[in-house]
Amino acid sequence: MSAVVAFFRRIAQGLGRRCPVCGRVVPEKGLCQGCARELAPRLSGFCPGCGTLYENEPPTVCFACRDDPRPWSRLSFHGRYDGALRDLILHYKFSGALGQGRVLQGLLREAYLREGAASGEEKLVVPVPLHPRRLRFRGYNQSLELSRALAGLPGLIPCPAGLRRTRHTTPQANLGQKERLTNLKDAFAADPGRVAGKPVVLVDDVMTTGSTLEWAAKALKRGGATRVECLVLARS
Ligand SMILES: [Zn+2]
Ligand SMILES: [Zn+2]
Repeated sequence: MSAVVAFFRRIAQGLGRRCPVCGRVVPEKGLCQGCARELAPRLSGFCPGCGTLYENEPPTVCFACRDDPRPWSRLSFHGRYDGALRDLILHYKFSGALGQGRVLQGLLREAYLREGAASGEEKLVVPVPLHPRRLRFRGYNQSLELSRALAGLPGLIPCPAGLRRTRHTTPQANLGQKERLTNLKDAFAADPGRVAGKPVVLVDDVMTTGSTLEWAAKALKRGGATRVECLVLARS
């Protein structure tokens, strides 16, 4: 009888432990080996200024960043917007699944810590805001949820009200490369009462052309932020 109980208990435990990415049964809580491999961080082959990806090259500052430095002092990201990371971000975006959100938060937190950005210095954590109309439609702001990954790290203070949208804009994904660059011009405003005189960690999920971060960082600086560090999950 006890063997039968043990058998069912083992099955129940197996059902409880699944890889939050692919759903495969795993021996221990966390990602399966395949997903962990696919979700490994990208440690080289990109411009440290803007994150532009190169094939097989050590971090080198690209020409665009050399000519015209970005409005941020640092950009950290976890990996390329591709494969398992892309699937996970998209699935989370549309389902808001908690388990997947936790995996993504973990990756974001690792990316922040890996870059040595966690000095203990006091910084505000500001997620890229959604326009209220889009927020109502989607129900939650993915960047805000992701930014909770940094909660509890020394010196970091959540400040979701530090930045807001001033107008509704066409989603960047629906636009061509050229239109994306100007679509978000003056679409953000910072609250000087909150950000003036302080360094900010600006959080978003995916960086494509970088224009969202560009306009958001500029608005934060106009509002008096002393410095903006960008932290995103994926670079496409
Ligand atoms: Zn898996
Ligand atoms: Zn660059």
